[in-house]
Amino acid sequence: MKILNFGSCNIDFVYSVDHIVRSGETITTNKLETFPGGKGLNQSIAISKAGSNVFHAGCIGTDGKMLKDILQKNGVDISYLKTVEGKNGHAIIQVNKEGSNSIFLYPGSNEMVTKDFIDTVLNNFEKDNIILLQNEISNIDYIVKKAYEKEMCIMLNPSPFNEKITNLDFKMLSYILLNEVEAEEITGCTSSEECIVYFKNTYPHLKVILTLGEKGCIYIDKNSVIRQSAFKVKAVDTTAAGDTFTGYFVSGISKKENIKDILKTASAASAIAVSRNGAAPSIPSKDEVINCIEGLKPNDTNNKSEILLGKIEAYISENFKNASLKDLALKLGYSSVYTGNLIKKLTGKSFSKYLQQKRCQYAAKMLLNTDLSIESIIENAGYENESFFRKIFKEKYGKNPLEYRKEVK
Ligand code: ADP
Repeated sequence: MKILNFGSCNIDFVYSVDHIVRSGETITTNKLETFPGGKGLNQSIAISKAGSNVFHAGCIGTDGKMLKDILQKNGVDISYLKTVEGKNGHAIIQVNKEGSNSIFLYPGSNEMVTKDFIDTVLNNFEKDNIILLQNEISNIDYIVKKAYEKEMCIMLNPSPFNEKITNLDFKMLSYILLNEVEAEEITGCTSSEECIVYFKNTYPHLKVILTLGEKGCIYIDKNSVIRQSAFKVKAVDTTAAGDTFTGYFVSGISKKENIKDILKTASAASAIAVSRNGAAPSIPSKDEVINCIEGLKPNDTNNKSEILLGKIEAYISENFKNASLKDLALKLGYSSVYTGNLIKKLTGKSFSKYLQQKRCQYAAKMLLNTDLSIESIIENAGYENESFFRKIFKEKYGKNPLEYRKEVK
């Protein structure tokens, strides 16, 4: 499967300073280091290091030759990398003695991706080819639209999150890969369990990969939810964790590998990246990942009750319509009485009260963050009786659902 990554290339200028410069002040810096960066560049390198061929499309400035060189050195195809008149996108980063930083970004060449250029590049790709996007170049809405018309497999990493992401039509996407912060901004949900339900109900066709830092990741599609722990490493620099994960994931999908294997390999690759300094240079090759993977241990920092509560929440979120204490107990491998007591101990509530609370919270989230009709929200939340739902909702939120949607939205 052909892979195109249409994304950014940046130059990061890192200045070591005694202190971060104040308004009106001039200081002399101690050291300047220059690094290649940009999510686009990092992810292309990660795809290539994962063992897949990738075309990187994007714009570099007349000062961006080092970026072209590093992409090429890492085996990325740069046939669609265009040099434009003007400065490359870059970041000016001050790092003080304590390691805190202050950054400003100039998008430069990354904002010079025009519709004509996009058309020219996409002419070379066809149905079912993969196109990967992040949010650091201009006209991503146009790229999504055109790639969708061509029936390409569109994978989006909505990072950094801003209103350009909100304006995209998610129905055109095949995959979305996002971290906890981006997931909360997009869905309004504060827990991964709520996110799972949100995506399953709002975009049933979309395959979602939610990364949770050292807590691992979750794959969600219409029929399944698959969890993968992160691997235990000494975290040195988490800069390119997500980019490494994305690159390995995309490579695995292009080779039609099994999802569980892809998640495991991508998690191992990003754990290795986290254990090293730097962005692109910290991304391991596939051989390194294969050699290390058996020696890596899952990071089970969560204690037993957190894991249990997670399982209970997951069960409820996935079974709003027909959740029962008996079924949950069966899934956990305990008796119903023991499970009921356990829920009381962990949540302070009986199973049925806890289920009501979760259903109601879910309905409130859907009212705020989607345009779904009240009827379908009620159905998705598992209420058979509409007046019962309205009564419970009013008790909890002090308003009927429509008023709540109007006033709080
Ligand atoms: P982003 O870098 O986009 O914020 P995450 O922080 O969620 O993304 O990290 C992506 C993946 O990298 C995680 O799902 C996990 O597999 C791995 N990872 C991140 N932080 C750590 C860590 N401290 N230890 C081990 N693996 C990590």
